[in-house]
Amino acid sequence: MCRICERIEMIKNGINPYFVKELETGYVVIGDNQHFRGYTLFLYKHHGEKTELFHLDPPERTKFLEEMTVVSEAVSKAFGAEKINCELLGMGDSHLHWHLFPRISGDIENYGNNGKGPVWWYPMEKMYSDDSRPSEEQLAKMKRKLLNELEKLL
Ligand SMILES: [Zn+2]
Repeated sequence: MCRICERIEMIKNGINPYFVKELETGYVVIGDNQHFRGYTLFLYKHHGEKTELFHLDPPERTKFLEEMTVVSEAVSKAFGAEKINCELLGMGDSHLHWHLFPRISGDIENYGNNGKGPVWWYPMEKMYSDDSRPSEEQLAKMKRKLLNELEKLL
């Protein structure tokens, strides 16, 4: 089973501590590591053979994109982003999922082009260090903030 399907199973069983909200096409979860404070994922509900946006039927694709856009707005408002970066990659797990990164000045230090550029110009070992994992209390607070903004927009 892919890691995203495993996380979705945990949501269905009520044991995923990162789960924020279920929408029509996917699940909103806070990211495990929070170097980019407010990093959120939007996980498409189904896996199977639909691993590209162009595999989805147009109405489903439109809904998925619309919901991702709402989630990104909620993330921006909840965590005070200067810019939101939306990434649909699928090189680790091909299961459709959006990475939503709230960006602020200086968040990649001096890496990249003098501190400017995509999140993946920040070293992976720093981005995924244990120091960037939220405490239970921080996670609870983040989930409340994001849920609150989402509910205003839905
Ligand atoms: Zn999957």
